[in-house]
Formats: sequence, C-alpha cells, structure tokens
Amino acid sequence: MTAQLIDGNALAKRIRAEVAGRTQALKARGVQPALAIILVGTDPASQVYTRHKVNDSTETGLQATLETYPADLTEAALLDRIQALNADPKVHGILVQLPLPRHMDASKVIETISPAKDVDGFHVASAGALVTGQPGFWPCTPYGCMKMLEDIGYDLRGKHAVVIGRSNIVGKPMALMLLQKNATVTVCHSATRDLKAHTLQADVVVAAVGKRNVLTADMVKPGAVVIDVGMNRNDEGKLCGDVDFEGVRQVAGWVTPVPGGVGPMTRAMLLVNTLEAAERAAG
Ligand code: NAP
Repeated sequence: MTAQLIDGNALAKRIRAEVAGRTQALKARGVQPALAIILVGTDPASQVYTRHKVNDSTETGLQATLETYPADLTEAALLDRIQALNADPKVHGILVQLPLPRHMDASKVIETISPAKDVDGFHVASAGALVTGQPGFWPCTPYGCMKMLEDIGYDLRGKHAVVIGRSNIVGKPMALMLLQKNATVTVCHSATRDLKAHTLQADVVVAAVGKRNVLTADMVKPGAVVIDVGMNRNDEGKLCGDVDFEGVRQVAGWVTPVPGGVGPMTRAMLLVNTLEAAERAAG
C-alpha cells in the first residue's frame, strides 16, 4: 500500500481563504480583527516565525503588529505591556513568541494574557476549557492536526489513537482533542516501554517528539493515519519530521509530509483563532 498524502499546504490555503472571507464580513460591520505579536530578544528562529505570522495575517486581511523588545526588557515591563493590550478593545489576539529570555517566567507572562485574547491557546484557562469541553482557544498545532483528520473525512469514534509526546502545547492538547472526538487515546512519552507495541495497535498515530525516525514502518499498522508534528533537520540539513516518511508511506493509509504538513496548518489555525477572538468580541 502507498499512503495518501494529507496536503497541509493545500488545506491551509483553503482555510486562509475562508478566514479572508469572514474577515471581510467583520470589517463590513466596522470591526478590524487585530493581532498583537510580542517578540523579546533576537532569537533568529523566533524572528522568522513572527515575520511569517505577520505576513500570514496581513495577507488574509487581519491586522498584525509586531512589537519587538530587547532581550533585557524587564518582566514587569512586559507584563505592563500585555495588560495594556488586554485593555485595548482594538486588539483581539495577543501572542508572546516563545522562548522568552531566561530571566522571565514564561508561565507568568502567558497567564497575564486575557484568556479572551489567548489566540495561542497556551493560557491555563484555555487548557482548562479544553479539558472540560468549554469554548476556548485550542493550541494551533493540535487544532491543525484535527482539521486535517476532519478534512480527510476520518471518523475518530471508537478508533485507537496513539499520541507520542506529552508537551503542554502539542501532545497533551492533541490527546484531549482526539478524546473529545470519541477516540480511545494512548499517550506515549520518553518513559514509555515498548513504544512499538502501542503504535502497532493504533488507527491514528500522532508523532510529536522532536527526534528523527521515532516512527518507522515496522511500528505502523497497515492503513493507519500518521500525522507527523516533528520538526528536525536530517544529515543534509533539510527539514524532516519524526516519521521515517519513505518507509511509513508504504504501510500507512494516510500520512502528512514534512515540510508541507502540520507546519502550514499551525500557521493557518492562528489566523482562525484570531478571527474567532474578534468575532466573539464583536458579539
Ligand atoms: P517537547 O516539549 O520537547 O516534547 C517532546 C515530547 O516527546 C515529550 O513529551 C517527551 O517525553 C517525548 N519524547 C522524547 N523522546 C521520546 C521517545 N524516544 N519516545 C517517546 N516519546 C519521547 O516538544 P514539543 O514542543 O511538543 O514539540 C515536538 C516536536 O514538534 C518538535 O520537533 C517541535 O519542533 C515540533 N513542533 C512542530 C510544530 C509545527 O507547527 N509543525 C509546532 C510545535 C512543535 P517526556 O515528556 O517524558 O520528556
């Protein structure tokens, strides 16, 4: 069997077009959806990510402002700035690019963002909303993975999903979203014994580890859906995921490529969350 590809670029493009349409509708009601992005320091990867976020936003009609601060900005000054953005009715989404400099407490910074503007979905209130099934913002990466499953028409009810990784921003929220769609969910991590024994039983595998070849063909049940969240570099310096793509695609039913899979979906879901924040604020 050769797996079908889940094309994240194509789906993200459709989602951006939908966001652009809804943004126009909101603008016609006099509301300009707006995202404030805060970057502290000069981490090169963060500079690239924030630039992409601004460009994606402006291309879809959302207003995005990037505020950059030196790495020695005090935590108190950052919290003050977030509070000012919380109080500004013209700002609907606030995103603080991580990682923050070492002298800052990232949890404290994220908890200062109003949950109504927490478009990254990292606030403890957003996490609580996801756990309890209340409305709230879902973290963009697992949300994008769910959109991919929805797009291929995959019914998760009664299926066994195995999530490899348990970070607060990917693995744990991914497991909760799959559970909400009635999958039976197993979460694996670095202390899991015999990972293969778990993945071989899975109808859906989500790999979110950050290590190449965590999932190889011999670990995949024929026909399974494989979603590769990982972002790594191979020996040639090229971007690759956690999944041995060439091997796994011979066994799986569906697989996401890296690049062109989860990455563009993560970016698209930030736009969706920002637009929804603006729609909720507009009533
Ligand atoms: P993270 O915080 O480092 O978490 C990695 C998880 O993998 C941890 O839960 C860890 O277990 C687990 N793990 C490590 N080695 C393992 C092993 N050998 N077997 C099973 N589990 C193992 O990383 P993250 O932020 O979740 O990100 C994961 C990957 O996704 C990274 O490559 C990251 O760059 C990528 N990512 C991509 C996007 C995108 O848009 N495409 C977005 C976010 C992240 P413990 O908890 O026991 O340590």
